[in-house]
Amino acid sequence: MRKKIVAGNWKMNPNYDEAIDLLNFLKDNIPTDHSGVDIIICPPFIYLIEAKKILNRQDIYVGAQNVSSFTNGAYTGEISAAMLKSININYTIIGHSERRQYFGEKEENFSKKIKLCLQEHITPIYCVGETLEQRNNGEQLKVVEKQISEALYNLSDDEIAKIIIAYEPVWAIGTGVNATPDQAQQMHVFIRELIAKKYNQTISQGIIILYGGSVKASNAKELFSMPDIDGGLIGGASLKGKEFTSIINIAMNI
Ligand code: PEP
Repeated sequence: MRKKIVAGNWKMNPNYDEAIDLLNFLKDNIPTDHSGVDIIICPPFIYLIEAKKILNRQDIYVGAQNVSSFTNGAYTGEISAAMLKSININYTIIGHSERRQYFGEKEENFSKKIKLCLQEHITPIYCVGETLEQRNNGEQLKVVEKQISEALYNLSDDEIAKIIIAYEPVWAIGTGVNATPDQAQQMHVFIRELIAKKYNQTISQGIIILYGGSVKASNAKELFSMPDIDGGLIGGASLKGKEFTSIINIAMNI
């Protein structure tokens, strides 16, 4: 059986004092017995070390939101996978739609990032998802297939089995409008079919696929109860300590 994951993506929020308050709230309020649910907090880079120190609990992981596609050297402003590993970061988000939209990043880039992370034993959380226009044109399956094939299909069986995929329809991110459980379930099944075709049924059934896009305490139960949804990547609601811990509690009780 696949485990559930609740991951928080803080994006470019908040300022230092607020970040420390939120980390302390999470340390004190995330239930200690959340077996079956892994928790990953992804704050901005500058808070990673502090987050590791404050969340000094074996059961709460800290992840990055991005990583360089270069190994090391003269790449001003970049943070490498090896640097993340050197401070014991185990996860990073790769390919978030905001990286695609505002920074022009493409699958070729994501593929390099994924390879470098795997070399450092960092688990990539690879995000895919269609825009509203693409969904309105009925192109969502084609779009997600391209995002998956171009960034992941060069991975070996062993490597693909280590990836987490997050289906995040762009029209649902930060809009308050989540995909319906059926819409999300359909896409998760489609992604599993792609992995089964390219790799095999065992890998496809084992791979963790998160849903992201306006997940809140009020809709988490119906989304996380779907058979192919293995938890969530949570943006806005992960900045609210109470809301985020409620979502964790919901995941624990499914
Ligand atoms: C995200 O940024 O990954 C996300 C899903 O955001 P939100 O939950 O705010 O829609």
